Amino acid sequence: MLEIGFIGLGNMGLPMAKNLVAAGHSVTGFDHVETALTELVAAGGQSASDIASAVARAEIVVTMLPAGRHVEEVYLEAGGILGAVQEGSLLIDSSTIDVATAREVSDAASQKGFAMVDAPVSGGVGGATAGTLTFMVGGTGEGFARASPVLEVMGKNIFHAGASGNGQVAKICNNMLLGISMIGTCEAFLLGEKLGLDAQTFFDISSTASGQNWSMTSYCPMPGPVPASPANNDYQAGFTAAMMLKDLVLSQEAAQTAACETPMGARATALYQQMAEAGSEDLDFSGIMRMLQGAL
Ligand code: NAD
Repeated sequence: MLEIGFIGLGNMGLPMAKNLVAAGHSVTGFDHVETALTELVAAGGQSASDIASAVARAEIVVTMLPAGRHVEEVYLEAGGILGAVQEGSLLIDSSTIDVATAREVSDAASQKGFAMVDAPVSGGVGGATAGTLTFMVGGTGEGFARASPVLEVMGKNIFHAGASGNGQVAKICNNMLLGISMIGTCEAFLLGEKLGLDAQTFFDISSTASGQNWSMTSYCPMPGPVPASPANNDYQAGFTAAMMLKDLVLSQEAAQTAACETPMGARATALYQQMAEAGSEDLDFSGIMRMLQGAL
């Protein structure tokens, strides 16, 4: 049994923390949202009244926060994790944030003698609840080895992506590709339809041909071919267009700092921005089909 401090008990963090409790760990959580703390306690965890008391006894600290500025605040500011955690603790940030902040916070932790890994996830709330998340981990080999047994409680696939920040790099590169492939898949179905090709027939052909991709075969944006996809449920999320836009914006910021041309990533970002501006950011990201159909 490990003493774990958990900061950020939102849609993702709360079910992740509950899985750590269910595995027999002693979890002390903190969030500004009171109901999240009540739920953690009901599941067998402990609640703290601030960050410092949540992490004071922790051997492992896990954070699951909205964005880079929250991670900076929670780790670096007065009353934050780095000023309160005990010697030898391992710090795991599972938030999806910009690469630069991930590396900056990890450097600050290592200057104070703490091992820290960035470990963003894919798998959504469903994966967080079922304990089947994919973790993409950046940090030293030793940090990865120490984090793995805890991450294995919350996830199914745990990858070491390399040095600090590389977990975030893997996450944004994957999601940039996902956004691009989703839009491409929509366009292929729409063009086929306009030219008289039945959607199911196109799916049967393309899903076994070279156009095959995850956005088509597991998450088809055209209603019909994949019964479990959000397209068959009025594009209810799922993974919202707002979350896709967040990850695409992160990819474009990173591309700029790396002086890397990503014209398709830039176009996908602009199209998801347009979807958000049309007031549809809460739809599933495959709902961009509707915008391309001219229905938003
Ligand atoms: P969320 O907004 O539901 O939860 C974030 C929580 O952090 C909130 O409860 C908030 O009160 C808390 N918080 C913010 N600042 C805090 C502070 N200073 N101290 C304590 N608590 C603080 O977000 P989420 O959906 O749980 O996502 C968390 C992270 O996971 C994000 O970076 C997101 O991009 C990433 N992510 C989310 C999903 C998803 O499907 N929701 C999937 C993959 C990755």
